[in-house]
Amino acid sequence: MRVLVVEDEKKTASFVRKALQAESFAVDVCHNGDDALAAASTTPFDAIVLDIMLPGRDGISVLKQLRERKNSTPVLLLSARGEVNERVEGLNAGADDYLPKPFELSELIARVRALTRRSGENKSTTLRVADLTLDTLTHKAQRGNTAIELTAREYRLLEFLMRSAGRLCGRMMILEKVWDYSFDPGTNLVDVYVRRLREKIDADFATKLLHTVRGEGYILKEAA
Ligand code: CA
Repeated sequence: MRVLVVEDEKKTASFVRKALQAESFAVDVCHNGDDALAAASTTPFDAIVLDIMLPGRDGISVLKQLRERKNSTPVLLLSARGEVNERVEGLNAGADDYLPKPFELSELIARVRALTRRSGENKSTTLRVADLTLDTLTHKAQRGNTAIELTAREYRLLEFLMRSAGRLCGRMMILEKVWDYSFDPGTNLVDVYVRRLREKIDADFATKLLHTVRGEGYILKEAA
């Protein structure tokens, strides 16, 4: 587990680094925002401890830049007492947690641990049925080497069908899980979306994966 600590106060940076190292984290330290952005773009970190008050580019700006660059590394913000607005702004900008100064090292370590655990859970989330794969983190779908573009709703439908692979999915069940409907709106919504999805994942391929069970629903599986 590799952690980036961004803090201009050298003493604080140093004791945070030592405490994390003692817990067997690998630690990189940056003393300003631009160095932090450069480090984060070249090294994959499992978490970033980011002080808000930095000379030049502040922590909030670093965080916004990271998220703009689609970097989703979990961020723990450190804020000085009274920086309530910055804290709220930070959470809105995509921070995962914050810790007001002064803090106990044991609490910092517990929170970094929680964040790295979460980032570990986010990894290797690829669903697979035959040569169809779906990455639940990036929402990228692929059949063989062909990338498949999905709308948000098509993604939810495909994710549900893949998680239920090999099992019959009734229309009502699909409405509940994919549209959050607890009633049947009496439309052919599900059938329309299944048809669209089929166009994308099956039409150009010899082996069909999405099958209709007449009068009952749909099933995603390799063999007919
Ligand atoms: Ca500082």
